[in-house]
Amino acid sequence: MNMKIFYKYLIDIFYPNRCPCCDKIISWNSLICPECEDRFPVIENKICDKCGKTECICDKKLFYDMCFAATYYEGIIKKGIINLKLNNGINFAEYFANILFHKISDAELIDKIDIVTAVPMSKSKLSKRGYNQAEELAKIIAKLSDKLFVNNIISIRDDASEQHRLSYSQRQEAVKGKYMINNKININNKGILICDDIITTGATLNECSRLLKEKKAEYVFCANIATTNKIY
Ligand SMILES: [Zn+2]
Ligand SMILES: [Zn+2]
Repeated sequence: MNMKIFYKYLIDIFYPNRCPCCDKIISWNSLICPECEDRFPVIENKICDKCGKTECICDKKLFYDMCFAATYYEGIIKKGIINLKLNNGINFAEYFANILFHKISDAELIDKIDIVTAVPMSKSKLSKRGYNQAEELAKIIAKLSDKLFVNNIISIRDDASEQHRLSYSQRQEAVKGKYMINNKININNKGILICDDIITTGATLNECSRLLKEKKAEYVFCANIATTNKIY
């Protein structure tokens, strides 16, 4: 047993490992309880590998090269994502990081990726919540694929407003000027993988990708735990 695994085992004695979807106590070395795993949404309609949506948005101008989603944002997945946001659902990120890593490997994209990063969170949200769940996912995927994790390539301008429940075109308007790229990080000719927990309209990922491509990133790929079935 290596030290990290031993540590996890020890921690479990004091803080029992819990399923991130139903809070039931699970064995120290599992990520999700089998009952919840069985209830994960079945992907009936294929999620488009290019845009990451079931209802394809590839007719819109997309700046990312490919977008992956592991599951639908439905049922028990919603609970898992809420838990992930509340900081006790790291199992959930680990479970889906593995699935996304395999999807990206199967598409033979690992060699094209140099840097793994995350969709940023606003400073006010970050200070309230203490951590960015998309970053947790990105860190695990970076580790699995043996790539560099860089957390501050993209940031949100301080004066940016929050966007909730907007249509694609409203969102596209709202994300314009919201993000900026850190000029100190050289992404020239680099392949970037951006991670996020949910893809809804795709406008955020598309805007981040546009900025990365503007700074001459060679490839931009996106990895999300869940995709909403509808575009809104
Ligand atoms: Zn469960
Ligand atoms: Zn598509």
